[in-house]
Amino acid sequence: MLKISWDAGHAGFGVTPGKRALDNSMYEWDFNDGVVDYAMEALSHYENVEQLRVDDPSGRVDVPLSERANRVNQWGSHLHISVHGNAATPSANGIETFVHPSASALNRDIALHIHNYVVNRTNRGNRGLKEADFQILRATNADSLLIEGGFMTNPEELALMKTNQYRATVGRAIADAIVTKFNLKGKNQVENQPTNVIRYIDTGGYAGPALLEIHNYLVKTGHNYDTKRGPDGSILFLVGPFDTGMANYKEATASISKFDSNMRILTREQAADWR
Ligand SMILES: [Zn+2]
Repeated sequence: MLKISWDAGHAGFGVTPGKRALDNSMYEWDFNDGVVDYAMEALSHYENVEQLRVDDPSGRVDVPLSERANRVNQWGSHLHISVHGNAATPSANGIETFVHPSASALNRDIALHIHNYVVNRTNRGNRGLKEADFQILRATNADSLLIEGGFMTNPEELALMKTNQYRATVGRAIADAIVTKFNLKGKNQVENQPTNVIRYIDTGGYAGPALLEIHNYLVKTGHNYDTKRGPDGSILFLVGPFDTGMANYKEATASISKFDSNMRILTREQAADWR
């Protein structure tokens, strides 16, 4: 069992002085909270993971750092992740991740793996893995890291940090990094089905107005797709590929099955026969 604890830095609603965008358009906690929510949701689909959030998820109370650390330690967390938004000059930008100067090689390795996932998925600047004597890192017995997922003081990054899309990208990047680092297995995964195989979803045949309907649905839900004409003249949709180890695969199967109960899930080999 992997025990992962989380804290969204500070509190929202103006509770923590100063921790907000310069134009007052966002509290730092709003970003931190969104990222933690998306990360925890993504990891809830994996087996042998327990999660605990040690800040106040309502954002109304700025739980003191000593109390956050106590909760981490009393629960016996293995990995603690603190999520923050950065602030500096308007030109400063990018992602940076901190470990305590006394962090073990394993702790640094985990932190760097997570950091690289976030940099790659967000395509923001890479400020590197750094050391800092932050209380939340010093006072937690778990392997711990503090990730700064962008600068509120940079107009371009602030605009991103206000969106659920960017928060989801950061949160799911952290989650997927943990999945790959700890080789977590998805819940409801068919037994003996290899993980991390690219899979496709064949949604079946459509003709007439349904073509436009499913096209609009797939575009709206952000899926890539390809089409071919079936033997009966209808159009088949091939959606994907998806890495089965990733949260977006589970999302896609859930959302498409709601739309179309005829969908079939294809392996890479089956999809190769598709053309
Ligand atoms: Zn902060």
